[in-house]
Amino acid sequence: MPPRATKRGAERTPLERDCDVLICGGSFAGLAVARELAESGADVLLIDRYEIGERQTSACGIPTGWLRALELQASLRQTFGELVIHTPYTTVRYHLPWTFSTFDYRTLCEVLADQAAFTFETAKVDGRTGHTVHTDRGDIRAAHIVDALGWRRVLGAGENIQPPDALLSRGLEVHPHGSGDDMEIWIDRSYVPAGYGWSFPAADELRIGVGSFDPRFHVRESTNRLATDLAAENVRYQGNWIPHALRNATEDGVFFAGDSAGHCLPLTAEGIRTALYFGLAVGRELSDVLGGRRSVSAALSSYSRFSASHARAFEWMLRCQRLVPRVPPRLLAGALRAIESRRFLDWAFGHYLEIAHPRFVTAGPRRTPVAVRVPA
Ligand SMILES: Cc1cc2nc3c(=O)[nH]c(=O)nc-3n(C[C@H](O)[C@H](O)[C@H](O)COP(=O)(O)OP(=O)(O)OC[C@H]3O[C@@H](n4cnc5c(N)ncnc54)[C@H](O)[C@@H]3O)c2cc1C
Repeated sequence: MPPRATKRGAERTPLERDCDVLICGGSFAGLAVARELAESGADVLLIDRYEIGERQTSACGIPTGWLRALELQASLRQTFGELVIHTPYTTVRYHLPWTFSTFDYRTLCEVLADQAAFTFETAKVDGRTGHTVHTDRGDIRAAHIVDALGWRRVLGAGENIQPPDALLSRGLEVHPHGSGDDMEIWIDRSYVPAGYGWSFPAADELRIGVGSFDPRFHVRESTNRLATDLAAENVRYQGNWIPHALRNATEDGVFFAGDSAGHCLPLTAEGIRTALYFGLAVGRELSDVLGGRRSVSAALSSYSRFSASHARAFEWMLRCQRLVPRVPPRLLAGALRAIESRRFLDWAFGHYLEIAHPRFVTAGPRRTPVAVRVPA
């Protein structure tokens, strides 16, 4: 179990207050929103049920360009120029046109939080009535509310669809000590009928897991088996539901970013850079509202349109997610070998990065480098 830094017992004092911006969720999406509001001068309150960086929510793999653009290199653990894909009939090694890196979750969150200016409180969000958010420590009223709480979309209007009926995948991984040189993927139905397994080395740790596009398929046994096959220990489990469909990015005056808006990419289940990307976009809209440059309704519509403008890419990825498990394994092996050419990979991975490109960071108003404190 990770150490619990969350306020407990007598420390859990009532929390009843007003603020200009209430960001619910202190992971990738929530911290990206806060970063863009650093110079707004607004009263920004960020709440999460855990301390910032306390609970790792993923294998923490991201295009390195995003770490660089956001000045988060202090969190970098290991960088890969190739992707190795195993199937029962072949193994391919794709040379990527850009590198991918694993990072340390706690450090990344701390460095990102240092780039922002907000008050932080631990509280569990239970729901919302209008502009009042109900938490286990009391009610918070805010002029502007952001739901960056992940797949549950706690602040959405009405009842939420729950798994297994919701459009969600499931993922589970173990974090044994160990090392490796390659970022590896397994497309192998003996592990998961529709989905894939992975091993992401992160310096002295491996992140080995299995994701299933079908929420009814339980992945614990497959995760254990993949780790055992790789001679790794089944320790330090981490798992969650992963959305694979876009949802409305605004609803009832609330902004949704990251998994709460279904911003995780189908097929690859890459949701960190998109959570950062859409979080930055929300922060920029709110910054304009707070600076008197835009009305709230204009900001809500503009962000909603921005998110929806990515629908084609997300649908395309979802089509691939549905197609790949249907392709007979021998045919899939042939197809993976056929696309090994440098030209094709540059084209395909170039388009894939474009969905949420790191240049978006510097395209925003915060071009000046921020003073970054590197935690010990
Ligand atoms: C096993 C696994 C491995 C993955 N690996 C990768 C990967 O390598 N690369 C990648 O790009 N994506 C990966 N993903 C997907 C990625 O984790 C998510 O898309 C990403 O974390 C979404 O970020 P977010 O900020 O929207 O939500 P989250 O990271 O889920 O953060 C939500 C925050 O809200 C808080 N919260 C939730 N509910 C409440 C509540 N009721 N009250 C208060 N606080 C609350 C949580 O504590 C958390 O801090 C993986 C997912 C899984 C399950």
